[in-house]
Amino acid sequence: MNNAEFPRKPQNSLAASSDDIPAALRDTSDVTTSQVRVRPNILFMGGIAGFIFLATISGFLFALTSPKTDIGSQSAPTNPTNRTAVKKSPSDNTNRVLGHLAYAEAPESELVRISRDGRIRMRQGAAEKFQAMVKAAQEQGVILVPISGFRTIKEQETLFFGIGAQRNQQPTQRAAVSAPPKYSEHHTGYAVDIGDGAVPATNLSTNFEKTRAFQWLQGNAARYGFELSFPKDNSQGISYEPWHWRFVGNSQSLETFYKGKNIKPELIENNP
Ligand SMILES: [Zn+2]
Repeated sequence: MNNAEFPRKPQNSLAASSDDIPAALRDTSDVTTSQVRVRPNILFMGGIAGFIFLATISGFLFALTSPKTDIGSQSAPTNPTNRTAVKKSPSDNTNRVLGHLAYAEAPESELVRISRDGRIRMRQGAAEKFQAMVKAAQEQGVILVPISGFRTIKEQETLFFGIGAQRNQQPTQRAAVSAPPKYSEHHTGYAVDIGDGAVPATNLSTNFEKTRAFQWLQGNAARYGFELSFPKDNSQGISYEPWHWRFVGNSQSLETFYKGKNIKPELIENNP
C-alpha cells in the first residue's frame, strides 16, 4: 500500500516544478519586450534583462536538475527490476523442486525414538527437546502426539508418488501437500508432525490450528527450539501446515534450514 502511494508524491512535486518552469520563462520574455519599448535605457535595461535572463536560466537549469534527482531517488525503490533483483538471490533458486528445498538424510546413528512404539524417530538433540516439550504441555493438560518424524528418501517416494498416483494427482498438485523425495524436511530428522491427542480427527488437517495443542505450541514451542515450517502465506509457497514443526534449536539444525537463505533477523514487539 505504501508503495502504491509512494510514486504519487514525486509526480505531484514534478508537476509543481514543471508549472514553475514556464512561469519563469514568461517573466523573462516580459522583460525582453519592455527592453525593446524603452529605447533610451536600452543598455541599462539590457544589462538588467541579461542579468535576469541569466538568473532565470540558472534557476531553470536548477529546476530541471532538481526534479531529476527526485525522480531518480524516488523511482529507485519502486523500480520493479531492482526489486526482482533483490528477491532473486542465487541461493533462493538452487536445489528447489516445486518450491521444496533439498535436504540430506540424517544418519541412522543419530536417530532416537520419540514414540512409545519406537516407530517415530528424530535426531537426538531434537528428540530430547521434543520429549521435554511433550512433558511441559502434558503438565498443562495438553496432549502433543508425534504423528511422523524422520523419513527416509524411500518412504517419501511412496508418500509422494504412491499416494499421488492413488489420488490421481499431478506432481504440481501433489507438491502443494507433500514434498518430493529428497526434498522433505522430514529427511533431516529435525521435523515432526504433531497432533492433539484429545482431537485426533484434526490430525494433519488445517483444523489442527483450532486445537489446544496448536495454541500451546504457538505460545511455547520456541522455548524448546521448535518453529512452524510452513505458516500461512510462507515465502516458499507451500500449503499452510499447522501440524508440521521443525527443530532449529542447535547450530546444526539452524544451519540445515537457514544457511545461505539470506533471511534477515526480525524484531517482534511484545517479545523481548
Ligand atoms: Zn510434516
